[in-house]
Amino acid sequence: MANETNGTVAVVGAGVVGASIAFELQRRGFQVTLIDKGEPGRGTSYGNMASIALDFAAGSGPSTWKKLPRWLIDPEGPVWLRPSYAPKILPWFLRFLAAGRPARLREIEDAGMSLSKIALADFRAMLDAAGAPEMMTEEGCLAIYETEAEFDADRGHLELMRRYGMEFEVLSNGAIQHYEPTLSPKIARAVLLPDNKSIRDPYRLVVKLADAARAAGATFVSGQAKTVERKADGKTSVLLENGGRVEADNIVLAAGVHTRFLAERLGEPIPLETERGYHTQIMQPGISMRYSVIWPHRAFMVTPTAGGIRVGGNVELAGLTAAPDFRRPRVLVRHAQRILPGLKVQDTSEWMGHRPALPDTIPIISPSSKMPGVFYATGHGHLGLTYSATTARLIAHMVAGDRTPVDIKPFRIDRF
Ligand SMILES: Cc1cc2nc3c(=O)[nH]c(=O)nc-3n(C[C@H](O)[C@H](O)[C@H](O)COP(=O)(O)OP(=O)(O)OC[C@H]3O[C@@H](n4cnc5c(N)ncnc54)[C@H](O)[C@@H]3O)c2cc1C
Repeated sequence: MANETNGTVAVVGAGVVGASIAFELQRRGFQVTLIDKGEPGRGTSYGNMASIALDFAAGSGPSTWKKLPRWLIDPEGPVWLRPSYAPKILPWFLRFLAAGRPARLREIEDAGMSLSKIALADFRAMLDAAGAPEMMTEEGCLAIYETEAEFDADRGHLELMRRYGMEFEVLSNGAIQHYEPTLSPKIARAVLLPDNKSIRDPYRLVVKLADAARAAGATFVSGQAKTVERKADGKTSVLLENGGRVEADNIVLAAGVHTRFLAERLGEPIPLETERGYHTQIMQPGISMRYSVIWPHRAFMVTPTAGGIRVGGNVELAGLTAAPDFRRPRVLVRHAQRILPGLKVQDTSEWMGHRPALPDTIPIISPSSKMPGVFYATGHGHLGLTYSATTARLIAHMVAGDRTPVDIKPFRIDRF
């Protein structure tokens, strides 16, 4: 429970990142107010592919620019840039390309892997503390390659995992069905990633964390944060669009991609873009899978979840307001049927979400450089679920003024 020594914290955003932070701070003795404009877990955290994906990979590399023409012309490819959005995203895109320079790339990989190394243990500890260890499956993930050429094209990623001591096992054609009998016998190779566990229901996870924070004494405020301010006495407040105000000793901004508007008002703009992604939830798939499956060449995943089989991934660069283009998830379902010949597409729902993406792939987990007492936890891109528990632990250390378990310099907001 809260006590006088630890103080109060307002957390803006009840996605997986904000809810994890609220839970972590409350159980460490802070008095937390969790603020969201909607219900907990209804943002991007609702429909992700449920994977604790420890095999970090930077978005941009030295040869990324060569792929650009394909991204513009193929609306069914793994990455699609809507031509009308190209001028708007150009500044972000130039930074994205710059992040692929070899020297910078190495720093980014070091930073991402420093989180990946501790992410699974942190996640388990968070679920145990919330009384929900059963929310994580024990099976890992299979990365599949339809041809030897696809496998060869991904060797750099395997080399990266080897360099950072990540566990994996290469499986040849005959061994793949032993792990996942539903996979097509035509798949040439697979790589077993035993530590890439899955969460049975990412939405329920957020609800559970928000509930656990409340059960420990946190309060929930429904409202849209407009900005934050700091008074002469050092007290900070979150000002809400409805005229309300939440005062606290510290504030954590964890509003996913929308954090960029709050940062802008604080005078520290961040290059936070949306990498839109889709899923199709198949409630009656006609097959049952044990492992999640990723097809790197096609940039999508198939994950067994509590509500059936989920097919999703891929990236669409089209901004926050453009209507979803559901042709994209339908392409993924067709690909999924190729690798899972028994998959039936019955009783489905489709969804789109906004990954909060920074051009250098790694998140901002940082004190504000403008206002004391304000912290940021955003920009987790493709790995917000994966790094949620670790982000919560790092933020809790920062708010408490303690030494963090990993070097937070690479994640500082003032790197931009
Ligand atoms: C298709 C797809 C697949 C993915 N698969 C994976 C995966 O397998 N593994 C993985 O680790 N990650 C995955 N991700 C990424 C992951 O889902 C995100 O990184 C993560 O959900 C971001 O969480 P968040 O809490 O930062 O943001 P959100 O979940 O978007 O939460 C932000 C919250 O802030 C609230 N909010 C916004 N503005 C305000 C405001 N002004 N005031 C009050 N509240 C506000 C919103 O209502 C929302 O509830 C995937 C993403 C997509 C789209």
